[in-house]
Amino acid sequence: MTEGAVASDDKEPGATEGAVTSDDKEPVVMYCTNHPDRVTYLRCNKCGRPMCTDCLVLTDVGYRCHDCIRDQQSRFFNAGLSNVGLAVLISFAEGVLLILVGLLVVLFIGFWGLLLAPALAGLAADGTWRAASRQRARRLRIYTTVALIGGALAGGAIVVLFIPIGLWGFLFFVIGVFTFYNRVP
Ligand SMILES: [Zn+2]
Ligand SMILES: [Zn+2]
Repeated sequence: MTEGAVASDDKEPGATEGAVTSDDKEPVVMYCTNHPDRVTYLRCNKCGRPMCTDCLVLTDVGYRCHDCIRDQQSRFFNAGLSNVGLAVLISFAEGVLLILVGLLVVLFIGFWGLLLAPALAGLAADGTWRAASRQRARRLRIYTTVALIGGALAGGAIVVLFIPIGLWGFLFFVIGVFTFYNRVP
């Protein structure tokens, strides 16, 4: 009986599942907040506004509207400019240190020095994360990795006057950069 009360051409199998709040006894025809001409049975489970399927995204926690998803993401990325700036500065310094230590190590022990690269780059990534006060930011890992590379190149440019940068030195740099990039959140 109540089935016939709603426009049947708007019904899809399962479309009403979970759409109705528990206090509703029967499906209530609602209209999408963004598209007033579209009938819907779904609501954003965060803000509760009725939304059509085009305006909702099925997330891990149920249907969410784009506004609520954007809001959640901007709270996830909550690093301020000072966090990012400090993290970039620290990453540059770490790049200088990383290449100095790396080139010295491979100068003395050659290939085996490469084994140190992931550990040292991991420490550097940790330092960067601390410098950012453990606040996530969009593209933080890109900015800081570029800074790390810049520092390593600057350090390498000075070091090359005293120590020849061989294959192991170059590989140390590559492994370090990749490890760092993968470790920074
Ligand atoms: Zn919402
Ligand atoms: Zn809509």
